[in-house]
Amino acid sequence: MILPKYSIGIGDRFGRQGQAQLQAIMKAKDQGLEIAPVWNKSCREHTIIGTSPADTREEADAAVKVCGWSDAYFVDADHINLANVDDFIHHSDFFTIDIADYIGEKAAPDDIAAFVKNNAKYVGAMTIPGIERTFEITTDLIEQIASKYLRAVQEAGNIYRHIENIKGKDNFITEVSTDEAELPQTPIELFFILAALAGESVPLQTIAPKFTGRFNKGVDYVGDIDRFRNEFEQDTAVIAYAVNEFPLPDNLKLSIHSGSDKFSIYPFIRRTLRKFDTGVHIKTAGTTWLEELTGLALAGGDGLAIAKEVYRRTFGRFDELCKPYATVIDIDKNRLPTPAEVAGWDEQTFADSLRHNQSCPNYNPDFRQLLHVGYKIAAQLGDRYQDALKKHEEIIGRNVTENIFSRHLQPIFIGGSS
Ligand SMILES: [Zn+2]
Repeated sequence: MILPKYSIGIGDRFGRQGQAQLQAIMKAKDQGLEIAPVWNKSCREHTIIGTSPADTREEADAAVKVCGWSDAYFVDADHINLANVDDFIHHSDFFTIDIADYIGEKAAPDDIAAFVKNNAKYVGAMTIPGIERTFEITTDLIEQIASKYLRAVQEAGNIYRHIENIKGKDNFITEVSTDEAELPQTPIELFFILAALAGESVPLQTIAPKFTGRFNKGVDYVGDIDRFRNEFEQDTAVIAYAVNEFPLPDNLKLSIHSGSDKFSIYPFIRRTLRKFDTGVHIKTAGTTWLEELTGLALAGGDGLAIAKEVYRRTFGRFDELCKPYATVIDIDKNRLPTPAEVAGWDEQTFADSLRHNQSCPNYNPDFRQLLHVGYKIAAQLGDRYQDALKKHEEIIGRNVTENIFSRHLQPIFIGGSS
């Protein structure tokens, strides 16, 4: 099973926008751009909403059938580990093996020594095609990297083999993620992590490192853009080099988690993909649910009322709802409107405050981020929320499609506007 060059992870919290999401990808296809949709949902999301991995599979299959999509598509068991992978195993054909928790745990001394020995040929000045500077590699450096990452990579091997035993070789896509680590991985760390993954015979087709800067949920990139550009280019070059050096799949590519809404770095990503003629997997941050809220608000009447209620209740449970997302949101409480203020808003004011349009004076990233973590409230509204989605599905669907196509696929893959 091969993941195509370009792919996008489309999370869909409530599993109702599969068709609207796929419409965006079909629109891109009309313009000659082939992008594989990957429906992803993590254990955390399933638990908060009360859905199961079977629901994601059902949604994807139904969307594909109704839209007549005949190209590849996948269902991603997002951020799994050995403890929870079994719930996903029969419903997914894409597995994001998350090893971040094991980073820093030490592998057996013999394993570290063997890794250092196997990679001794890289000691000295390393040049990587596509990167101007050279890297000074020492035995100490390789040992340090092994001490930090080898145990985590061994865990990836354990999880991979567990999945392979059940599903069979080549019947699924493997991604390895370290994006939830505390510190970013340097390009050289990435190189040796790939060496170790090859050593564990993990046939990963995507890898999601932690990049420099902040990839907060639903909002733009925060950090040093030049540094990101450099690192992204170097990571891309490292992957091309590693694929030549080690037994790894030829189509190995970077995966960018929380990759939605990172408008300020899309132009660099697009140029790098062209420069290296390589692919990418962009995993969105589940922001389709915010398009549901935007659509509900714009519908006015009972739709707007539900959107306001979600905000009021989310505001009231700020600490509880923000806690699981503490490292991936940055909300300034002083910039949040009070529920009483929001109660007086009309459709357009609510939608403008929420929609990620930085040139709109009403756009409020704090409001947007808080609502992003408020999906638990919508889940608890139960049938009332579901019925509202059904009643206003047309306007919601338009917003979902437009968001993926115009604010994501176009700037990342097609360009022109930025
Ligand atoms: Zn991630």
